[in-house]
Amino acid sequence: MYLKSLTLKGFKSFAARTHMVFDPGLSVVVGPNGSGKSNVSDAILWVLGEQSAKQLRGQAMEDVIFSGSSARGPAGLAEVTLVLDNSDGTLPVDFEEVGVTRRMYRSGESEYLINGAPARLMDVQDILHDSGLGKETHSIISQGKLDAVLQAKPEQRRELIEEAAGISKHRRRKERAARKLKSMDENVRRARDLDREIK
Ligand code: ATP
Repeated sequence: MYLKSLTLKGFKSFAARTHMVFDPGLSVVVGPNGSGKSNVSDAILWVLGEQSAKQLRGQAMEDVIFSGSSARGPAGLAEVTLVLDNSDGTLPVDFEEVGVTRRMYRSGESEYLINGAPARLMDVQDILHDSGLGKETHSIISQGKLDAVLQAKPEQRRELIEEAAGISKHRRRKERAARKLKSMDENVRRARDLDREIK
């Protein structure tokens, strides 16, 4: 599996549709200061489901939408599509290519698509988590993150190792199952109370 392409439109400094194609192996993005290199990695984080504006170097999530320049008015929405080559079947879907799109409108409305079909954030996370990609798998190391890792407490460092080893996705599923069990327990208790009242 590898990152095949990235398409940005209305995302941060990328007002016009910008399509980047990557080959297998190492790719390097170069450019002068302030030209938008970090905005490219922000776009990858965002399309993978990042929910924190701070992690995207902004104050509010709307800050990812192109805010306008002297030559161009602000954009009404930000859209990023990331395409992964899945010909080796790393991702648990029957597609040779998996395209994930995230859109966000100024109204705050937001949507995800997987290969063009509407999806939930949970679907995106479920597909990507098994691949080692995804919001919390530290496949993107931003500036300053290395220092944070080196200065992390042992428990935090353990979390990082668990994520890298792929344990965190099982923890996430366990927590989801525990939440469901708890709500089922409450339903059963309510049903028993009703039953007792009727009798
Ligand atoms: P450096 O090499 O200094 O780290 P960089 O190439 O990584 O720089 P970025 O930080 O990606 O540059 O881009 C910064 C530019 O993006 C700034 O000019 C900033 O004004 C612009 N920018 C960020 N958000 C938006 C937005 N919502 N609308 C328009 N421009 C934006």
